[in-house]
Amino acid sequence: MNRTLHFDLIVIGAGPSGSAAACWAARSGLKVALIDKHPFPRDKLCGGAFTERAMGLYRQIFAQNDLGAPYVARDAVEFYAFGSPLGQLHSPAPLRLTMRRSLDAHLFELAINAGAQDFTGSRITGLSTDPVRVNLGHSVLTAPVLIGADGVNSFVARHLFGKAFEPDQIGFALEVEAVGLSPDLPLRIDFGAANWGYGWQFPKADSTTIGIGGIHARNPDMRRDMLHYLKTLGIADAPKVKGQYLPFGFARTKPGKAHVLLAGDAAGLVDPITGEGIAFALQSGKMAADAAQTALHEGRPEAALSIYRAQLRPLHLAMWQARQLRHLLFNPTLRRPFLNGFQRSSTMKNAYMQLLSGQTEYSEISRKILTKMPRLLMRAATPIGAPKF
Ligand SMILES: Cc1cc2nc3c(=O)[nH]c(=O)nc-3n(C[C@H](O)[C@H](O)[C@H](O)COP(=O)(O)OP(=O)(O)OC[C@H]3O[C@@H](n4cnc5c(N)ncnc54)[C@H](O)[C@@H]3O)c2cc1C
Repeated sequence: MNRTLHFDLIVIGAGPSGSAAACWAARSGLKVALIDKHPFPRDKLCGGAFTERAMGLYRQIFAQNDLGAPYVARDAVEFYAFGSPLGQLHSPAPLRLTMRRSLDAHLFELAINAGAQDFTGSRITGLSTDPVRVNLGHSVLTAPVLIGADGVNSFVARHLFGKAFEPDQIGFALEVEAVGLSPDLPLRIDFGAANWGYGWQFPKADSTTIGIGGIHARNPDMRRDMLHYLKTLGIADAPKVKGQYLPFGFARTKPGKAHVLLAGDAAGLVDPITGEGIAFALQSGKMAADAAQTALHEGRPEAALSIYRAQLRPLHLAMWQARQLRHLLFNPTLRRPFLNGFQRSSTMKNAYMQLLSGQTEYSEISRKILTKMPRLLMRAATPIGAPKF
């Protein structure tokens, strides 16, 4: 017979957003259930770049000083655009290159240590949200508030809205784990390896993660582009290529309904230019937990979404600004002056690196680019000696 267990908060999905939400809520005294269909450790397709922005949130949410999962730290990135080098840049803070298998297992463990109850490896056989009841076959869980942190194909988002994302706006990414390459290879980013996106080479301890990602609708043959990119990097025998949707540029303005909140990829919170998602998963997980706690404290669980939306406003604004800037970087007409400018301007390069390390925001970048725009357009009109993009 099914047993029924009551919680203050149920979190579905134990990736970075779910573990952050569960850990933060448990640390603030809520009785939390953390559900995932997989037991941990489990693999997740991802570059695994853990930025200084992510590190700051990790310290705050999980109350740890140093990252407790293995990583390789790099402080320089080589940039290319359409095969031409744009130069090497030094980061003001290290980029930590992790494997999601160990990173996510670590975050999950911290959430459980904080007091969240472990329901990983459990398949959801039934979900109702009004009131919240999650049937796991062996048990039924209930709570006044639910957080859907179940990734880009979110089951909870589909339950609420009929679909997890807008197919014409979603991104897509392909990746391989290449073994046997030198661990001293540069960390490399290639604009133009995919349309409206880029390629990456992230060398780690036991393998090199290589991938391309871009807007799905603008990349009709991404597998061909991936094979081309691998060839550019000197890899003839392509290891197994895997793909996954990437919700960059698809931030949900209404991430949930009343007492049901969506966090991380389920809320579309991936940077539309850099593709960074782990930091925003941590941040939105914490915000969703905060909103749940406030709403419960006020005795109005149905107010959780409006509290959460208010907290998300600056993040939504930054995502919107990045979406506008994406046109400068990726639109075929505008990208040439932009990339010429990027190649020559140390201000723009530094701004990009500061963005990656979480030390500047899109509002600041937009301001810098607007100031430089007349000069960039002049350079586009006088292309002598300029590399062709
Ligand atoms: C190829 C690729 C490369 C990327 N590289 C980077 C990078 O280098 N740096 C970076 O910051 N971001 C990167 N991202 C983005 C990053 O992976 C995501 O933004 C991040 O994982 C979002 O975290 P999340 O917790 O919201 O979702 P996820 O990490 O996807 O976790 C969701 C969890 O929910 C569980 N789940 C799903 N459905 C159910 C269900 N029905 N029932 C129970 N559990 C369920 C899953 O098992 C999973 O554990 C990349 C993405 C891709 C696709």
